[in-house]
Amino acid sequence: MISVVLPIYNEEKGLKSFIDDLLTQLKDIKQNFEIILVNDGSTDQSLELIQSLCSFHSELKFIGLSRNFGHQIAVSAGIDYASGDQVILMDADGQDPPELIPDLISKMNEGYDVVYAKRIKRANESLVKKWTASFFYKLLNKITSIEIPVDTGDFRIINRKVVDALKQMAEKQRYLRGQIAWLGFKQTPIEYERKGRNAGETNYTYRKMIRLAIDAITSFSNWPLRLATISGFVCAFLGFILILYTLYAKFILKIYEPGWPSLMISIVFLGGIQLLGIGMIGEYIARINDNVKKRPLYLVDETNIKTHA
Ligand code: UDP
Ligand code: MG
Repeated sequence: MISVVLPIYNEEKGLKSFIDDLLTQLKDIKQNFEIILVNDGSTDQSLELIQSLCSFHSELKFIGLSRNFGHQIAVSAGIDYASGDQVILMDADGQDPPELIPDLISKMNEGYDVVYAKRIKRANESLVKKWTASFFYKLLNKITSIEIPVDTGDFRIINRKVVDALKQMAEKQRYLRGQIAWLGFKQTPIEYERKGRNAGETNYTYRKMIRLAIDAITSFSNWPLRLATISGFVCAFLGFILILYTLYAKFILKIYEPGWPSLMISIVFLGGIQLLGIGMIGEYIARINDNVKKRPLYLVDETNIKTHA
């Protein structure tokens, strides 16, 4: 069986036509399937729409989260409830074309555990989004030790082995494409052109994008911590030279001026570096704090799925 996991946040406008497309594709494949619609605390009529769709099609199942937990957590919830041997992750806004699903499945049947869709083109997305995304992925690849594929979103197919492994990763900051890359197993890309949205607007505000970026970096790299240490060393070294020079100037050259400029510069500079270091440490401590709390990752308000894996 194949499970398709769809995170949904305020998608009432385009959802119905997308589900129709998806159903047509999946019925062509001639394999059992289920579609798991995860309502991530939508504030529009998405939930009502999802429930009415479920009553029309027996393959549709839904999970209604108790509030908006964010894209990555919504997908994680869907993965937890999926019972397929293969699970497809995709967006519900039509940007990930259902027509690619047969290719994903046939590639997986060649013996891969993960087949991710790599976008060769992104339609209808702002330049700023493309640039920030490309900068972020380059940075991430430089500072992490695992290879996280560039130009890929969460659109992919994973098998049961990978699903079970993912479930063992209890971390609260979810960055699924990184986590799946970290897992290893046999992974391969296939290429596609990413389309524009069917309807509505992106739910990824800059705030959410920055959150995701910081989660990705702190989950997979200790480089920011090391940067704080390195800049500390550099400052200490420069400070040491400055001390030597000051003593030399005072006792040998007999230049003794009130050192206002150098004093100000070093105070400001050191203050900045210290704050930077503390801030970075704070980022990690905040995350340790989050994980120590052992809160559930999400809460389900209502669902029509009976067995909880
Ligand atoms: N989404 C979600 N929770 C959120 C934000 C988004 O479940 O808090 C869903 C959204 O409904 C869509 C997918 O995640 O199916 C991708 O979101 P979006 O299209 O807004 O992001 P973009 O494609 O612009 O990166
Ligand atoms: Mg989208």
